[in-house]
Amino acid sequence: MQDENFVNGLMAFIKKSPTPFHAVQTMADLLESAGFQRLYEIDQWSLSEPQSGGRYYVIRNDSSIIAFHLNQSLLENGIRMVGAHTDSPCLQVKPNPEIINNHYLQLGVEVYGGALLNPWFDRDLSLAGRVSYLNEDGQIDHQLIDFEKAIACIPSLAIHLDKEANDNHAVNKQQHIVPVLMKLPENSIEQDADFKKLLLSIVNTELEKNTSISNAAKILDYELSFYDVQPPAVVGLHDDFVASARLDNLLSCYTGLMAMLDNDGKQNTLLVCSDHEEVGSVSAAGARGPFLRSVVSRLCESEEEVSRMMACSLMISADNAHAVHPNFADKHDDNHGPIMNDGPVIKVNANQRYASNSETAAMFRHLCELADVPVQSFVVRSDMACGSTIGPITASELGVRTVDVGVPTLAMHSIRELAGRWDAYYLYRVLKQYFD
Ligand SMILES: [Zn+2]
Repeated sequence: MQDENFVNGLMAFIKKSPTPFHAVQTMADLLESAGFQRLYEIDQWSLSEPQSGGRYYVIRNDSSIIAFHLNQSLLENGIRMVGAHTDSPCLQVKPNPEIINNHYLQLGVEVYGGALLNPWFDRDLSLAGRVSYLNEDGQIDHQLIDFEKAIACIPSLAIHLDKEANDNHAVNKQQHIVPVLMKLPENSIEQDADFKKLLLSIVNTELEKNTSISNAAKILDYELSFYDVQPPAVVGLHDDFVASARLDNLLSCYTGLMAMLDNDGKQNTLLVCSDHEEVGSVSAAGARGPFLRSVVSRLCESEEEVSRMMACSLMISADNAHAVHPNFADKHDDNHGPIMNDGPVIKVNANQRYASNSETAAMFRHLCELADVPVQSFVVRSDMACGSTIGPITASELGVRTVDVGVPTLAMHSIRELAGRWDAYYLYRVLKQYFD
């Protein structure tokens, strides 16, 4: 695959994936068209001949996905695994969201994860996620929705009304970031501001596209989050960068998926993309939950086999790394400031906030050499706290050798992040080398 196509594919993937639910749906569609078969956790799995090239995927909570391709004896060869996460910091709609304030309809939101809030002001926002409803036959069902068009905004306060804005502008999460949806008509009634009524019509419009499904009679619940409608773009005088929401970590999901679909199919390979990383991974679908362990256990006959398989397996945990910012270069260690477009980064932390060790980092360095891709190292400044990711969680849950890597990124957790235009492709080449 050519690099030009790769960044276009990445941008299309991110645009189609405004929420973890949509990201999983998009990945499932790509897996299906590549011949992967969906397995349901509730069924008995009869993977009788995994050696013959079984390609499968499993979804949990519509927001985490595991895809695997088995070709050889698991006990002798283990599995080559890649991990990433599907979620990104955002604003999630509260259960009773309607706020009528000075004739405006607003929706109350909670902050999901460690969002950088200032960039959320003055953006054209849309809304997407999963809605659960009671259908006309009295059954509970779920539907993904995406308003697609800009339906809301969070206007800044004019600098004339806050002279200190450029010096110290604190954002109050309860008061300052409530999105504005509309100006209510003069003699509006409460029904005009009924959010679930609005959702009901959106869900039914979506369902009508598929005439075999019974309509929604009542909205029961939802997980919806706002996102910026500005599509991803290649930017820079010489097209050096890609600017987009959710590069952390849909970039790694897409890159892992492409490596999974394009490799030579001779090894046992697995991709796990988990939800809830940005809030600590503690959930049924998160990396601290039992999803991955449950799936790999079902590929083995006994607990001893799981241990034997894990002992010869490897995990590359891919999550974006902090590039050195030219305006804030002192935030990095002088010798460990990753540069965009200089290749993927191995993340190291003596206190195991990253799972890399000399053995797994050496393996990744060697893979980069084989793929003819440059590689960098990141260590946080010794006087600053270190972030973490799913690497150490997976390593401690499964006991599998793990390396934490990622592409250098600026403005991480902003509504619009910036990464090197070539780095995703570099990472793809390394992961493909690994899967081959
Ligand atoms: Zn991340």
